[in-house]
Amino acid sequence: MASKKPRKKKAKTSRKASPRKTASKKTAPRKTGESAEVKICALPPSPERDLAPTMDPFRASLIRFMDKKWVNGTALSYYFFRKPAAWRGADNQEQAVRDAFQEWKDLGLGLVFNEVDAPEEAEIRIGFDHRDGSWSYVGRDAIDHASDPRKRTMNFGWDLTTPYGRDTALHEIGHALGFPHEHQNPNAGIVWDEAAVIANFSGPPNNWPEDQIRHNILRKIDPSLVEGSEWDPDSIMHYRFGPGLITLPAIYKTPSLIPAPGLSPIDIDRAVAFYPMINREPRLRPYESQRISILPGEQLNFAIEPERSRLCSMQTFGGMDTVMVLFEEVDGQPFYMDGDDDSGSDFNAKITVRLRRGRRYILRLRLYYAMQQGEGVLMLW
Ligand SMILES: [Zn+2]
Repeated sequence: MASKKPRKKKAKTSRKASPRKTASKKTAPRKTGESAEVKICALPPSPERDLAPTMDPFRASLIRFMDKKWVNGTALSYYFFRKPAAWRGADNQEQAVRDAFQEWKDLGLGLVFNEVDAPEEAEIRIGFDHRDGSWSYVGRDAIDHASDPRKRTMNFGWDLTTPYGRDTALHEIGHALGFPHEHQNPNAGIVWDEAAVIANFSGPPNNWPEDQIRHNILRKIDPSLVEGSEWDPDSIMHYRFGPGLITLPAIYKTPSLIPAPGLSPIDIDRAVAFYPMINREPRLRPYESQRISILPGEQLNFAIEPERSRLCSMQTFGGMDTVMVLFEEVDGQPFYMDGDDDSGSDFNAKITVRLRRGRRYILRLRLYYAMQQGEGVLMLW
């Protein structure tokens, strides 16, 4: 366990919502005749989080799996840059991104997405610079590594109104929700023809340098970042690959591997498992301890309705890693107030804020890891 004062991660997020309906869940077969030669998403490198080398590997893997993902129930705000001119997208491009957010939301996720008109209010800040490719920060990296409101956390480098463009919008939002590249899933068992991959992607239309090809394709991501043991070649988070790039599995050696369009059934299962719809929260009352007996990755949600205005603290007790986020509910929508993430430290998550009588607050607590299952409590005082 860490012995020095840790760098606490931010646990942020929120705001109001925009309801609409346009769900689509595609199960079309993978295509084989289509060209794989397209521009693809280029994730920006982000530093791996430092965890104490002596940490129990199980605890470390649980922290790594969850620490880029949002607390469920978070309201994520997105903003479209209008200047500089090179970042501005045409109306139909912005609309394609709104539609893609809605398609994720329509899966029945507990997250909320809102468009806002000020970059300071947005966790996800979007440009449409066609000289800069398509990319996004992964999940909470957007607030941990790209908090400057003048900077983009997502860019679209090509037309989003084509079938491939619609998949690109879903893919980059998938990153913003915390999902990594599926072709880098270590469970895929993909063996690359490295020289062929480097030759292919260093040429047009991508023209990537070798380190970018290694970062986005050849590198296997940490097994702890992957949900379950399945590999999903139809995932929206999977690139398409032309013939001659994959040595194993042998069935992908000769034909192109082109994922079926849209969100795959496994994408949907993973998103709904991590961000399920939240039903009405039970009350958290002062001086009553709530036992934390959930499993890693699960979340507790409480409503707080103060009977008088005063400074309040809410804290976990016991050997566990949690991320705790407090929202104020206004017109049924969560507004971020404060958050604390004690993962990887000996400290407990604690928030101290002034709560006001007559208002409603929501406290969400996601468990990364517990030293002993069920031996921890949450209290408000
Ligand atoms: Zn990507």
